[in-house]
Amino acid sequence: MKNVKAYAAPSATEPLIPTTIVRRDVGPKDVLIEIAYAGICHSDIHTVRGDWGPVPYPLTVGHEIVGVVTEIGSDVTLHQLGDRVGVGCMVNSCRECANCLAGAEQYCLNGNTGTYGIVDRDGTITQGGYSTHIVVTEDFVLHVPESIPYEAAAPLLCAGITTYSPLAHWNAGPGKKIAVVGMGGLGHMAVKIAHAMGAEVTVLSQTLSKKDDGLRFGADHYYATSDPATFENLANTFDLIVNTVSAPIDLDAHLALLALDGTMVNVGAPAEPLPLHIFTLFGNRRSFAGSGIGSIRETQEMLVFCAKHGIAPDIELISADAINDAYERVLKSDVRYRFVIVTTTFA
Ligand code: NAP
Ligand code: ZN
Repeated sequence: MKNVKAYAAPSATEPLIPTTIVRRDVGPKDVLIEIAYAGICHSDIHTVRGDWGPVPYPLTVGHEIVGVVTEIGSDVTLHQLGDRVGVGCMVNSCRECANCLAGAEQYCLNGNTGTYGIVDRDGTITQGGYSTHIVVTEDFVLHVPESIPYEAAAPLLCAGITTYSPLAHWNAGPGKKIAVVGMGGLGHMAVKIAHAMGAEVTVLSQTLSKKDDGLRFGADHYYATSDPATFENLANTFDLIVNTVSAPIDLDAHLALLALDGTMVNVGAPAEPLPLHIFTLFGNRRSFAGSGIGSIRETQEMLVFCAKHGIAPDIELISADAINDAYERVLKSDVRYRFVIVTTTFA
């Protein structure tokens, strides 16, 4: 066992504070990763603030992790000392259920082992990436291609895969009209990835204040949802809408923007249930779907895709003592477009 430096939430209402957490000994199939960078996902904030239910405090969050392998177990075959690697939202799964066997372990029927706040296979509570080191079983560790800038790679492990997975599943590509609702951490990655896939991309943001950025990320069109004309002019338009908003939105108004057989997939995860008129789905035979992160195989595919297309998130690097201020800025939609913690500042 190893004590490592970390930042943790003591409760739903207090700021995160410096602390020490325990990492297990490196088992035969484990790798020890010295973390270099950890992204701040809105899910970290939902979790520590108790938006999604009870939390085992104190809790260290963070599921966008990149670093270097500094120790390997005796039976490790997938990684070597010095490899640049990543860890995302899960660190294990049951490996036995139908979904795990189908290569969809993010949907493990026994519950995937989330990177933080979940009872691990050894009975301890998992602790996330706002720390200097983490021990992870080797097949939940990703190879991060060298061509992806080191400091910008971390957000791909959640924001990247969470948007890549539905875009790939619903066949984003040439001839497809795709709308991305909300241009924060996930949204800006959705724009970049959908553009690289060859789709025609529209951003639906609260205001036009980030329009220049959206067009730079590859969007073809950019509209404000605060303008009622947006919903009139874009009715029956899109093949796919990816909703990344962290708060409740008017589902019916957005679903009405789908063309025949279009799908709106929700990745945003507000605390509250959202109302929906079923009749909105009858028009145009619309579908309303959800999507959770992505499998390990798909995450590796996404990293290779991003390397090939030169895609990386736009980030703001921060030191550990700026985490709480960063949270407040994310909550105000004032993020450009992902905060990444330099984890050496925990030392
Ligand atoms: P984020 O960086 O805060 O981005 C969310 C964006 O939503 C904001 O930048 C803003 O974009 C828009 N927004 C915020 N409040 C709004 C409101 N009241 N009304 C309308 N639009 C609003 O968050 P994120 O890290 O991208 O995460 C987004 C959501 O996805 C969170 O709920 C997170 O928990 C969830 N998530 C889900 C998965 C999954 O597996 N499904 C994985 C990761 C994250 P504009 O300023 O452009 O309007
Ligand atoms: Zn996340």
